[in-house]
Amino acid sequence: MRTREATLKAYKYRLYPTRAQEDALSLTLTLCQRLYNGMLEERRGAYKKAGKSLTAYDQMKSLPEVKAALPEYQGVNAQVLQDVAKRLDKSFKGFFRRVKAGHKAGYPRFRGRDRYDSFTYPQPSQHSVSGDGKHVYLPKIGNVRIRLHRPFSGKLKTLTVKREGQEWYAVLTCEAPRAEPLPLTGSAVGIDLGVNHLVITSDGEFVDNPRFLRSAQKRLRVAQRSLSRKKRGSNRRKKAKAAVARLHLKVKRQRDDLHHKVALKLVRENDLIAHEELNITALTRTRLSKSVLDAGWAGLLDKLRAKAEEAGRVVVGVCPKYTSQDCHQCGHREKHSLSVREFICKGCGAVLNRDWNAAMNILARALPSVGNVDQRVMRSPRSPAIHRGE
Ligand SMILES: [Zn+2]
Repeated sequence: MRTREATLKAYKYRLYPTRAQEDALSLTLTLCQRLYNGMLEERRGAYKKAGKSLTAYDQMKSLPEVKAALPEYQGVNAQVLQDVAKRLDKSFKGFFRRVKAGHKAGYPRFRGRDRYDSFTYPQPSQHSVSGDGKHVYLPKIGNVRIRLHRPFSGKLKTLTVKREGQEWYAVLTCEAPRAEPLPLTGSAVGIDLGVNHLVITSDGEFVDNPRFLRSAQKRLRVAQRSLSRKKRGSNRRKKAKAAVARLHLKVKRQRDDLHHKVALKLVRENDLIAHEELNITALTRTRLSKSVLDAGWAGLLDKLRAKAEEAGRVVVGVCPKYTSQDCHQCGHREKHSLSVREFICKGCGAVLNRDWNAAMNILARALPSVGNVDQRVMRSPRSPAIHRGE
């Protein structure tokens, strides 16, 4: 039986600040960024001069002095400023950890405006979001309009305000008891991550690779080209830059959304999900590159693992060798060129979509490795029929 530990979940919502609120948000970001760089400078100085390491606590203690010397900081919530010291501390701790582990480690760097895009209320009120769910209260900024496109639940732990391009978002992290695992379904599935399709399951389901992503990407390329032609520092360049950022976001959002849906469906319907272990970096270097990145396999698998864990499902990665060459029915190995979409077995005469055959092999490989999964899982996949995927 699983224990019901608490989990942290993040919810991201679009904010619609007024003009004045937007100015206040921008100013807060700028002041936090300057403070971050100032504190970094201070740490460097203390170390150089006296060989002394400052802690986050040391730096938080000096915040009242900062406020006295620079009155504009009085307009920023005290906890938000403290969180800046904690962030810097985090990057130092990460740096020291990497040094200790013998990894190549870069010393924490100064952050430019583009590299500092959020600030955090580390202990927000549980009533930050208004009862009707239309506003979020941000201390020192005000009640900002929010769009809760899905509800959140649990105890509110942190509230982060984020700038993405020209849009603003609130990220709420909430602590909630771990969800009960979903009831067993008695089904297991193998998935092949395709180039022509995003996913092909051993049940013969095809999820298409999103063409809309490709068209959005085309528009992105056009926008990027247009940006590169604009004069540095010009107003037109600023506009073009914003357009590129907007399109980037759009592509990312659409892809994430699709991945969530696909992962959710797989997890709901199956106790065991088998996929091929991917060497994504190696693949992306080949000429398949564009499509691989389009499909964003790694992102999909991440979401799949996260959802499976929450639901008590099993996700298994298997060795991908020969999965598209072996006949799932008789085991005969047939070398096909990548361009051949149909698997035709000279051993038993099976004819089916190459990726579907691979998905069934992937499932078959995973089954022996999960002896402890409920026996009902061992149902074999649907028997193959002649199937043309395109
Ligand atoms: Zn065969």
